[in-house]
Amino acid sequence: MRNGIIRAYRLAAANEPDAEKAFFVADLSVVYRQHERWKRCLPQVEPFYAVKCNPDPYVLRLLAALGTGFDCASNGEISQVLKLGVDPSRIIFANPCKAASFIRNAAKAGVDMMTFDNTDELHKVARTHPRAKLVVRILTDDSRSLCRLGLKFGAPLVSVPGLLAKARELGLDVVGVSFHVGSGCYDSSAFADAVMRARAAFDMGREAGYEFSLLDVGGGFEDANFEENAGVLAGAIDRYFPDRQGIRIIAEPGRFYVSRAFSLAANIIARRAGESPPAAPDAEIDADQPTVMYYINDGVYGAFNCILFDHQKVHPYVLSLGGSFHVPGAEALRTAACSVWGPTCDSIDCVCPVTRLPAALQVGDWLGFDNMGAYTICAASQFNGFEVSNVIYTSGGGPGDAEVRAVLGAFAREGRGIE
Ligand code: PLP
Repeated sequence: MRNGIIRAYRLAAANEPDAEKAFFVADLSVVYRQHERWKRCLPQVEPFYAVKCNPDPYVLRLLAALGTGFDCASNGEISQVLKLGVDPSRIIFANPCKAASFIRNAAKAGVDMMTFDNTDELHKVARTHPRAKLVVRILTDDSRSLCRLGLKFGAPLVSVPGLLAKARELGLDVVGVSFHVGSGCYDSSAFADAVMRARAAFDMGREAGYEFSLLDVGGGFEDANFEENAGVLAGAIDRYFPDRQGIRIIAEPGRFYVSRAFSLAANIIARRAGESPPAAPDAEIDADQPTVMYYINDGVYGAFNCILFDHQKVHPYVLSLGGSFHVPGAEALRTAACSVWGPTCDSIDCVCPVTRLPAALQVGDWLGFDNMGAYTICAASQFNGFEVSNVIYTSGGGPGDAEVRAVLGAFAREGRGIE
């Protein structure tokens, strides 16, 4: 993405008086290609994009045009999606613990599909949206995932019969089962195990007098091992739901669609070199001990909140060196151990505690960070008065380019940065 960032930088610099501002570059063709990949690997599973992951308006517009559904967690997300003209039947309100006013609002908007995992929620739904199409969210093994959502949500299988009996008593319509193996799932077997549990929950549904018609396999899909996860998931669906006529299968992928589509360019606004004493006067000189501290203009209170909230490690690379965007190959560069910090006055604002970067990096040079599309902008704050970094949109240059451009034509006409 390096060349894309540099092209986008030139565009931004041409339009912006304060051209040192950090900025994201969104390559929307990556989102398009991830959708193609999804359809290729999981043709029987309809993706409902998890808006929480990155509610970027142009990502949503593109996905709406491509026909995906949407997983929304709040009123705000629901109205953002509905404003795009998406039919409410393409939305699942996939938050098992909702405010009563939010459920009432969903009912008014015609959003019927929603998850639950506890009895109180059933009482709330009975009062506020008795015609809801409910989906029981079950607990699965997420112990090997980056973010363990099971710590907060999901009914253990043993409690499902009781929940379904209560739903029946309240006259509610439970239409299916959902799970989430944890965000950032690197263990494919978690999907197989979860589908097995969902099968058991389907059988419990039948015993309670329901005929379930929806299986929601959640999110957790990673770019790096997508084909493997998809293969194991598809195999498990075939095994546990061999006769699935009348069963609709959906998923709630988030990071798979957007992580790789966004990069961030940040400017080195300050540097401290050779001014920090070693930890102890007699400490051995360690070649990997950072001797230079770089301060960039986005940090953990902004785009890099993913380091704290999403357990990410980020890896800077050099976009400009000594003011030039013609950076020599890595082998020609002398590097030094260094640390990279955000712009705020808080010492927790550390982007990279130890890394190696060219010793010739100066204040004013640019660093790039890839894979910045998931759980970044959406949770960025303006702590200390630092603005959230803007996004410059590109439509890449690969297959799907024409379709992405067509979808985003309106945006281009608004005069914003489509390359
Ligand atoms: N669905 C639900 C209910 C979630 O809570 C999340 C993430 O927190 C997702 C889907 C998206 O997960 P991922 O980004 O790992 O695909």
